[in-house]
Amino acid sequence: MKDIFCKIIDGEIPSTKVYEDDDVLAILDISQTTKGHTLVMPKKHCGNILDCPQELMHKVFDVAQRIGQAEMLVFGAAGVNILTNAGECAGQSVPHFHVHVIPRYLGIDPGFQITMKPQDTSGMDLPRIAQQISENIK
Ligand code: 5GP
Repeated sequence: MKDIFCKIIDGEIPSTKVYEDDDVLAILDISQTTKGHTLVMPKKHCGNILDCPQELMHKVFDVAQRIGQAEMLVFGAAGVNILTNAGECAGQSVPHFHVHVIPRYLGIDPGFQITMKPQDTSGMDLPRIAQQISENIK
């Protein structure tokens, strides 16, 4: 079954388009966390960033960067969150790779709210953790 973003890309469901080229579509997020909240996605289906071919992923992030720059310029945003969720337990609700571009405005929005609670690392073998990741980078 097609995911909702594939249906939007195929024109079966309406969306508010921000940008389009042969490979990438950007639309306003229906939830508008802040004014201008945009989703940038590959037209070709990829489940999330981890299974997206590198060249296509770069194109998506290139567009996300340019949209962030435009939002700073046109809306006077003070900052921008550019982020992607991969996997349900990481907060991904639509199984089609997309990058959120969320402008942030001084004084009028609650700001960045992702949970990154620091934990006590005293019992953790940080060099070993780094080594395990490092050895498995392909
Ligand atoms: P995720 O939770 O997967 O990182 O983000 C999915 C995003 O897609 C959410 O912010 C949600 O508001 C947005 N979304 C879900 N359905 C639609 C839709 O039909 N149209 C648009 N424009 N955005 C959608």
